[in-house]
Amino acid sequence: MKYTELNIQTHRENPANARTPGAALFVRAGYISHSGELLELGRRAIQRARRAYEALAGTHGASYDTARSYFTRLDLEPFYSRESQEIFLPQETGETELVTCVGCGYVSSRELARTRKTPCSSEATLPAEKVVTPECPTIAALAAFMGIPQEKTAKALMFTRLSDSQFVFVVIRGDMTLSEAKLKKHIGDFRLASEAEIIAHGAVPGYASPIGVHDTLVLVDDLILQSPNLVAGANEHGFHLKNVNAPRDFTPDLVADLTLAAVTDPCPECGYKLDGGNAIRLSTGSQIHFDALLPALVEQFHDDKGLTLPASAAPFDVYLMHVPGKTLDTLSAAEKLYQQITESGLEVLFDNRDERAGVKFNDADLIGCPVRITVGERALQNGMVEVKRRSGGDVELVAISEILNHLKA
Ligand SMILES: [Zn+2]
Repeated sequence: MKYTELNIQTHRENPANARTPGAALFVRAGYISHSGELLELGRRAIQRARRAYEALAGTHGASYDTARSYFTRLDLEPFYSRESQEIFLPQETGETELVTCVGCGYVSSRELARTRKTPCSSEATLPAEKVVTPECPTIAALAAFMGIPQEKTAKALMFTRLSDSQFVFVVIRGDMTLSEAKLKKHIGDFRLASEAEIIAHGAVPGYASPIGVHDTLVLVDDLILQSPNLVAGANEHGFHLKNVNAPRDFTPDLVADLTLAAVTDPCPECGYKLDGGNAIRLSTGSQIHFDALLPALVEQFHDDKGLTLPASAAPFDVYLMHVPGKTLDTLSAAEKLYQQITESGLEVLFDNRDERAGVKFNDADLIGCPVRITVGERALQNGMVEVKRRSGGDVELVAISEILNHLKA
């Protein structure tokens, strides 16, 4: 494609709102607009990245393992979660919270991470007992009033499933946080239950437990069954029950891991302390998240002059430019070369603008195609062009007759 036929707009100045140097260059190179909208170069880069993956999947089949080798070919070193079949690239600005284990290599998004849970000290189950607990509608207030740690309480969370309005009662230990992602895996989409819905099923907001509720799906975190004698709601305003034990006092419909991992929890596989961090989710199963891939690549592949994307994710293979000459027609020589390289199957961005060499060199570096070819008067007199790799190395002089062989090598 010719530069003048494409809608390319590069910028000299960093955008004011860029979060990272990579993100700034992404805008300056004209891949996305200042407001984050994908532009021609960005669309082409994604298109080519997608094509490269589809070619690989065509040979090896679309799978998690094909996704893995695709990222390896891009020279990325992501984190692989075999469990969730997800692939993550650690990056400070990434929107996914990740937990990892240096002990055994366990990797998971935090929302779905398992951890090694610590049961309470084992003790004999005691008979349930109703106690007065005025003004204790929260776990913190209850634990303070009773003089017990929060891990000795049961937390009640109530939802309504969107698909069939089923009332769902979730019980986790008071010191834990629910993972909505884990709950969603079991029941589908849901919303918080309204006060009217809670009351209609026999529970009392602030003092709720599954004891005595009806028409309810009861989901219980696995740790609850290993936590004897908890304090739970009595479904009566101002009262709780001491020594509640599941399944003695209520019957769960499902027992599962429902809690959100803390980043300092022990690894579920080896018990080593987990590490937390941010990441970009590159793929799920065989699906590559191409919209997330390009911004992730840009963070890794740039220098102070511009982008240095791998060939399969750059918008073009070659940046071809001419430097307007005094005696020789460098433009038509470049034009011929453009035809020749394009016909060989490579994609060329031909900078045919009547601009100073410096302006074009800057844009070539900024946009970052893997190879830059310059048709200038001095070399052209000897039938040569200048070839420069974006990723480094010196300018080489290559005979025009040899250029295709050179590019293939
Ligand atoms: Zn581990």
